[in-house]
Amino acid sequence: MLDRFDLLVIGGGSGGIAHARRAAEYGAKVGVIEYGPLGGTCVNVGCVPKKVMWYTASHAYHFAHAADYGFDVAVNGHDWAALKARRDSYVHRLNGIYGNNLDKSGITTIIGTASFVDAHTVAVEGVQYHADRIVIATGGRPIVPNISGADLGITSDEFFELEERPQRVLVAGSGYIAVELAGVFNGLGSETQLVVRKDSIIRSFDSMLGEQLMEAMQKDGVNINTRVTPSSVEQTDDGLILHAQDGRMFGPVDCLLWAVGRSPNVASLELGNAGVQSDDAGFIPTDDFQQTNVENIFALGDVTGRPALTPVAIAAGRRLADRLYGGMDGRHLDYKLIPTVVFSHPPIGTVGMTEDAARAEYGDAVKVYTSGFTPMYYALGDKKQRSVMKLVVAGADERVLGCHVIGEGADEMMQGFAVAMRMGATKADFDDTVAIHPSNAEELVTMR
Ligand code: FAD
Ligand code: NDP
Repeated sequence: MLDRFDLLVIGGGSGGIAHARRAAEYGAKVGVIEYGPLGGTCVNVGCVPKKVMWYTASHAYHFAHAADYGFDVAVNGHDWAALKARRDSYVHRLNGIYGNNLDKSGITTIIGTASFVDAHTVAVEGVQYHADRIVIATGGRPIVPNISGADLGITSDEFFELEERPQRVLVAGSGYIAVELAGVFNGLGSETQLVVRKDSIIRSFDSMLGEQLMEAMQKDGVNINTRVTPSSVEQTDDGLILHAQDGRMFGPVDCLLWAVGRSPNVASLELGNAGVQSDDAGFIPTDDFQQTNVENIFALGDVTGRPALTPVAIAAGRRLADRLYGGMDGRHLDYKLIPTVVFSHPPIGTVGMTEDAARAEYGDAVKVYTSGFTPMYYALGDKKQRSVMKLVVAGADERVLGCHVIGEGADEMMQGFAVAMRMGATKADFDDTVAIHPSNAEELVTMR
């Protein structure tokens, strides 16, 4: 049997579903192939359950200030299993909504693992499907280091399966997931250690953010160990021990979590049958229009190696459908100035160039404005957490190239500033904008 479609989308995650639904709106006959629960990483083992956990830990951080505001609150523990049950049922609800939306859009959902037969044909569980165009949106999976005993650890996928909170936790890694999940464990009362390979954390961001976050996490009780290259993991009677190349040992702990990056889901695709090229790490390169080296095959989202964020995958998918099926010639995603939030405790919001990147490109034309302060929220008590903000500007008109914030409210602050920066905002535009008082965000328009 050979079913024919205008468009087959491999992967029912953020990017695949967004692309499929937009293409169907324009009248395309679309099939989406998915072997897991609909919604992909974001809904099932990413943004959504992670944000629930971030909110949960945020409660714990806020309880610490309740007495400052006159509350007599006693926190009698936290029921992780009950929270997990509620979180799982929310995720299941979302899975259902995604399924219904595909049905409502007239899209055929094909369940199973897709692999290419040729550039126009995909096989799923022994059935072949034909399409004029095929979009690869297969996302990625967590990397587990190739060292002895590594399988004794878990990844972010299994973090969401934990039925109880481990008391002693070691997180290995220094990126988004490492700092976010270490913040959750620490906030909820686990003895939390972080081991990182270099001297700092979240190194791809402006260095101010890494320095401030490291200081804040340490102050909150996370034990951060630098220059640790894991060499093996050992199970002892008292828990897991991580051995480092330099002979140091970390542990024993009840849970070791690897957060050392993600690799693309390409193994089952048989890309060679369609002539689709991938790079050494398996990512599928595309041109600015999401086209692979094969004319009728496109790729988007995490599998392309571009910024691995849900709104990026969605935006790329929708724009591609607008261009291919909506008659919007030339429409594509501009990957510059993508805002992002690290849901650490405290959170980080950032958009645009780091100071180092700006100096490398614009040299002495770069000027930096910074502001460090203790938000009013902490004014009534002794436990305080600083906020720090940095604006990176360049040229005579002081165009804002980068905006970096860590501290209370940073997560909800950056979306609007990203709009302003896309419109070419200068420092003078920031200064001319009337502040909102009292707020933390007002510091961004009052910097001198
Ligand atoms: P995915 O959402 O991963 O979807 C790919 C789908 O393809 C999957 O459902 C998979 O099962 C399916 N698939 C793969 N191979 C095949 C095959 N051969 N046949 C059939 N189906 C296949 N981003 C944010 O913007 N904000 C956040 O707060 C955030 N938090 C995150 C937290 C964690 C712990 C993680 C891991 C990620 C987080 N992300 C976040 C990143 C975000 O989840 C991804 O960028 C996003 O899901 C990528 O979408 P995608 O469509 O490219 O891939
Ligand atoms: P990241 O790419 O953010 O960070 C992984 C880091 O781990 C690397 O940068 C590296 O840092 C370190 N590392 C790599 N290999 C090793 C190793 N063998 N041993 C020890 N450390 C190692 O990956 P994550 O897995 O944290 O997240 C994947 C992606 O998912 C993110 O890049 C992001 O795009 C997305 N995401 C987004 C979130 C959000 O929007 N809030 C939240 C979570 C994920 P170094 O070089 O410093 O050692």
